Amino acid sequence: MTEIPDYLRVRREPQRGRYDRETIDAILDEALYCHVGFEADGRPYVIPTLHARVGDLLYVHGSAASRMLRKAASGIPICVTATLLDGLVLARSVFNHSINYRSVVVLGRATLVEGDEKLDALRAFSEHVAPGRWDEVRGPTEQELKATWILSLPLAEASAKVRSGPPEDEPEDVGLPVWGGVVPVHLAAEAPLPDEHADGFSPYVWPRVHGGRLGAGH
Ligand SMILES: Cc1cc2nc3c(=O)[nH]c(=O)nc-3n(C[C@H](O)[C@H](O)[C@H](O)COP(=O)(O)OP(=O)(O)OC[C@H]3O[C@@H](n4cnc5c(N)ncnc54)[C@H](O)[C@@H]3O)c2cc1C
Repeated sequence: MTEIPDYLRVRREPQRGRYDRETIDAILDEALYCHVGFEADGRPYVIPTLHARVGDLLYVHGSAASRMLRKAASGIPICVTATLLDGLVLARSVFNHSINYRSVVVLGRATLVEGDEKLDALRAFSEHVAPGRWDEVRGPTEQELKATWILSLPLAEASAKVRSGPPEDEPEDVGLPVWGGVVPVHLAAEAPLPDEHADGFSPYVWPRVHGGRLGAGH
């Protein structure tokens, strides 16, 4: 994007706005899921769902019966957001408390994916969530493929916002007798729990977890 349109521009704390694809892609790749916002019958809905990014496209998928997918596939404008929570920012005043985060907003119109791209996109979903599983498990049947819809949304209109670092206390507050700083927060995976048929197999090790932190699996 050469010129950032006004409707994509972060207004509050504009210095936290990022519009480069490197930042946007990294957040989308690390986030496990997103929220899709759309209007249906006069009401706004924001529905959580999985996503995967491949190049310049963001894919969302689900049941062919999903209202979210059917609405979005009709070509109405949608908004997809993904958020990574990095920390609780504890200031010395209530007002200056904040959150460290990295988030992305994508605006646009989605289209239904079919043919070879559909299988590639499904694989991308699988690899995004559970890297390595696609090659181990049974692939989808024709019937299962038919029951699954995939939509693609171009990343042409996207913004990111990033807050990091310590609290921004007022100079007159820093001497108050109260602790200030950041409580780091991240999504973590626990030890795998085998089901009753898993005997004899080594557990799936989630490659998205690096040193206890959830990453994009690379
Ligand atoms: C975990 C988390 C907690 C937050 N808590 C608060 C809170 O308690 N109160 C509060 O006011 N704000 C909070 N924010 C920030 C919030 O997301 C908005 O950035 C904020 O409301 C200011 O929006 P605006 O008026 O500048 O932009 P808007 O006019 O709302 O949006 C204009 C455009 O800016 C871009 N944009 C705005 N926000 C973001 C974003 N977060 N990520 C990517 N693009 C964005 C979008 O393209 C949007 O179309 C939080 C953000 C996160 C991720």
